[in-house]
Amino acid sequence: MRFDELLRPTPLGLYCPPGDFFIDPVQPVARAVVTHGHADHARSGHDAVLATPQTLAIMGERYGEAFTERRQSSEYGATTDVGGVSVKLVPAGHVLGSAQAVVSWRGMTITASGDYKRRADPTCAPFEPVRSHVFISEATFGLPVFVHPPDGEEIARLLESVRQFPDRTHLVGAYALGKAQRVIRLLRDAGWDRTIHVHGALERLNGLYQSQGIELGPLGLATGPARGGGALPGEIVIAPPSAVQDRWSRRFADPVTAFASGWMGIRARAKQKGIELPLVISDHADWTELTDTFIELAPEEIWITHGREEGLLRWCALRDQPARALRLVGYEEEEAEVEAVRSGAAPA
Ligand SMILES: [Zn+2]
Ligand SMILES: [Zn+2]
Repeated sequence: MRFDELLRPTPLGLYCPPGDFFIDPVQPVARAVVTHGHADHARSGHDAVLATPQTLAIMGERYGEAFTERRQSSEYGATTDVGGVSVKLVPAGHVLGSAQAVVSWRGMTITASGDYKRRADPTCAPFEPVRSHVFISEATFGLPVFVHPPDGEEIARLLESVRQFPDRTHLVGAYALGKAQRVIRLLRDAGWDRTIHVHGALERLNGLYQSQGIELGPLGLATGPARGGGALPGEIVIAPPSAVQDRWSRRFADPVTAFASGWMGIRARAKQKGIELPLVISDHADWTELTDTFIELAPEEIWITHGREEGLLRWCALRDQPARALRLVGYEEEEAEVEAVRSGAAPA
């Protein structure tokens, strides 16, 4: 297959033979193009990394500035020559700095979109559709059952609960990169202007977002006596999901536990995690966004990876849209954001 000459799946990730680079490699390589800062896509130890300035900043924040020997910063829309292959990064709408890698060579163009979503997100640039021969899509929520509600509705449910239980702390689990800042911004947009208290593990990435011009409003560190509880009644606290469920959360006033994730659309999952207030807020395209994107782009081929390939393959087959599953390994289907990376080591 000729498109395979330009990009092909390997155990280390998508590899471009003519340019001799990998996209989001799962192990250290000589030359990496990194789509965004989530830990399963952005790893430390590559000799050279090409990414957006925001993604490079996020990697520096999480892994320390020595995360690579050589960084190559590429603004959205700029084209970089990598070993004779042209690489352009365009917004993916997933988290701050997230990019699709548009790879062109000898008249062929393949867009590796990384993780993406189509709905508006005030904390990052919106997904930009790019015409190409091959579109590589994630499939995290690639089943028709996954249709995420508008995030405004979910935030309204959170604020309604705060009004209903004014003596309790609302403790919202949100992944440290992207989700936490988005929840904060959505709360601001819904009119919540009080100080939002955050777990210490979120402080640095919040600071990075703010330094990139994303307004988060007044933030405070969520502190309180480790025993006895009773801290921050009536307030909203944002913390990494693991902290919501560990002893750290006992300091708060009879906390209402919430969790902002696309997976919260599955009641059983929320229940199993002991989540009282599931909030269906996702940084991944839902079924509608995925299939609408396929219709809009109508590429010669769709390559599907990273989640539930079968449902999307079937959808494509029914529409005579050529498609294949890549079966790349090493990526988390959930943003099982590794909280143990530098910014989030020990829950305080
Ligand atoms: Zn991601
Ligand atoms: Zn991912």
